Amino acid sequence: MVLEGLAGSLRETLRKISRSSFIDRETIKEVAKDVQRALLKADVNVRLVMELSSTLERRANEEKPPAGMTEQDYLVKIVYEELLNILGEDSRLTLKEQTIMLVGLYGQGKTTSAGKLAKFFHRKGLSVGLIAADIHRPGAYDQLEQLAKKLNVPFYGEKGQKNPVKIIKSGLKEMSDLKVKIIDTSGRDSLNNELLEEIKEIKSAFNPDEVLLVIDATVGQQAGPQARTMNETVGITGVVLTKMDGTGKGGGALSAVSDIHAPVYFIGTGEHPDDLEIFNSKKFLSRLLGLGDLETLLEAFKETNITEEEAEESMNKLMSGKFNLKDMYEIWEKFAQPGIIRKMFDSLPLAKMPGGNKIDPNAIESAQDKLNNYRIIMDSMTYYELENPDDINAKRIARISRGSGRPETDIRGLLREFKAMKGNLKAMKGNRGFKKMMRSQIRSGNFGLDQIERMDQ
Ligand code: GDP
Ligand code: MG
Repeated sequence: MVLEGLAGSLRETLRKISRSSFIDRETIKEVAKDVQRALLKADVNVRLVMELSSTLERRANEEKPPAGMTEQDYLVKIVYEELLNILGEDSRLTLKEQTIMLVGLYGQGKTTSAGKLAKFFHRKGLSVGLIAADIHRPGAYDQLEQLAKKLNVPFYGEKGQKNPVKIIKSGLKEMSDLKVKIIDTSGRDSLNNELLEEIKEIKSAFNPDEVLLVIDATVGQQAGPQARTMNETVGITGVVLTKMDGTGKGGGALSAVSDIHAPVYFIGTGEHPDDLEIFNSKKFLSRLLGLGDLETLLEAFKETNITEEEAEESMNKLMSGKFNLKDMYEIWEKFAQPGIIRKMFDSLPLAKMPGGNKIDPNAIESAQDKLNNYRIIMDSMTYYELENPDDINAKRIARISRGSGRPETDIRGLLREFKAMKGNLKAMKGNRGFKKMMRSQIRSGNFGLDQIERMDQ
């Protein structure tokens, strides 16, 4: 995982809070000091850290927890909110027709990220092409061309051409029927004028929709000055923070780039084209703190306008172990927005569950897409089948297939996924405290650390 050291010490702080029998000034001071130490060790800027710890201390001393919330939980909430504050606002790269220009120094991961982004858009169903406008580094053309071949996306480049504006102009023309055009540009060893002039010229010639700064997280706080200069030169619209897999300084890099108020869209977590994560500060922080991304889950519940009772009833069903296809259907119906199931799975720290399988994110995504299809299939099942999915044999599958107009493979897929889901729910059920935690999340809209701790065991 990214930032293991920071995660470890912050979690220890949270544990300390939940273990303390009461919260007094002394405890608060200690917590502020612990957070301070953890952040400084993760290379976060000293000024930011000092600001954060003094705000934290002040808030914790002044504010009273709302009714129904313990002092301990409230202190955790303050720590969470203040940490979130230094990560900055979230924003997503939109899935529309656009031109994206990548900028950054040598070796930061521009070309690799160009490939990762191409794969990202391709997977989202948008046609995408790669343009090689790094005229400076020998081999840059070949590197991108090979990547494009591997990913099976269109490529444009002109070997030997020394004017990037010319290359891009022809490239954009040739790719005019593609939705997303990604331009890989030159870097330099340092932020010299030649580089800044070059990217400025490209930017003013084409005015791309996005100018993404690709920056290596291992530089830590040093990401700050780089980001500022680039921002002043070409106006950075978003950041891709690479090599988050190999550094304890990611905290420093993240907080430093938040300074230019351009969102961190993605983090790179490896050399492979799949090693790209959409950055979501709440999710990131919840994972860091071991809170299992409860924010996302709570938001998902809030979006649906489901009453507490309904949510609890559904939860009970899910957790009962006697869960069948009919229940799944009912829950989907009730929750109306199929996304909630995905969000729910997404938000659970499955990896930590004893015997829990980690669900492949691609599987979740495609499961969501298939949801409507599944409803149609289930409409063609009898009550008996919905209640006894294990009894659905080949003959029944053939009938359901005819009735729903869906191929038999889809029906088998549904049954397979249902089984996997049930297996996962069973694994969660075996986890003491999980159900209690889920309920209390739904009810209170906040997290209870003692329950989360139990899950950690
Ligand atoms: P560029 O000069 O900015 O185009 O950088 P490259 O894309 O050529 O990347 C430089 C090196 O960093 C290559 O060896 C990449 O494989 C590696 N790299 C890029 N992104 C990541 C990442 O997220 N994690 C890791 N571990 N390596 C990365
Ligand atoms: Mg490159």
